[in-house]
Amino acid sequence: RTVYVNGDYLPEEEAKVSVFDRGFLFADGVYEVTSVLGGKLIDFPGHARRLARSLGELDMKMPVPEDDLLEIHRELVRANGIGDGLVYLQVTRGAADRDFAYPEHPVQTMVLFTQAKPGLADAPMARSGMKVISIEDQRWGRRDIKTVQLLYPSMGKMMAKAAGCDDAWMVEDGHVTEGTSNNAYIVKDGAIVTRQLGTEILHGITRAAVLRFAREAQMKVEERPFTIAEAQQAEEAFITSASAFVMPVVEIDGEKVGTGTPGPVARRLREIYIEESRRAGV
Ligand code: PMP
Repeated sequence: RTVYVNGDYLPEEEAKVSVFDRGFLFADGVYEVTSVLGGKLIDFPGHARRLARSLGELDMKMPVPEDDLLEIHRELVRANGIGDGLVYLQVTRGAADRDFAYPEHPVQTMVLFTQAKPGLADAPMARSGMKVISIEDQRWGRRDIKTVQLLYPSMGKMMAKAAGCDDAWMVEDGHVTEGTSNNAYIVKDGAIVTRQLGTEILHGITRAAVLRFAREAQMKVEERPFTIAEAQQAEEAFITSASAFVMPVVEIDGEKVGTGTPGPVARRLREIYIEESRRAGV
């Protein structure tokens, strides 16, 4: 595979980042994942905008203008022959003598690589639905910044696996925040319910698109917190993320949601999202 490191396109074996990189030592960095469908980048402007915001919140700057970033994404998709898959982008504060305080003159590190995922839009899980467990949300308080501190979400995934499930929904003060790597939704009395934006959750790019499509299709949307008990009694549940699109959730902590099969709202939103993404991709 060809990867990108600080201005260079290199075979992955030749790509190097310093052992003093603050991304490695302090998780002092942010990332984005942009899906590719039929060779086209999905929601690229949204991901670029969120990257700029994450960087700004941490007193970092965009390493290159958005246009150049798009070109780098496209070049990697082309070089690696990606039809369906994703582009991963990470920007860190770069290498400096180890010190908690930021370096005075940081030289940021930017790395991009691709992953091929043939048949990304026809994931079998979209037909079976996924099973989730609930766990306490033990992450830090600025989940709106997309940092590379992903240890707790990784632990959550492992807890789900150990329970024979696919993912974990995290709960804080009795209410669901989000999934380990996705935003969480239920359908209640026909309305789509998902937690409101704030510092407690990542502002999903897929979330924004799906809520827009839902409103355009005259579906009712409520942005408010919900509990695990409410979700278990809901008509449907589902998640969204750049790599899973819209994915039905059919079981929460061993309780079937609705009929225990993917529901019509999740199925319809998935169709619309994939169709619109294929159309609007760049
Ligand atoms: N929440 C968390 C914690 C995530 O890691 C992700 C995926 N990166 C999302 C939500 C979904 O965001 P997006 O739709 O932008 O992929």
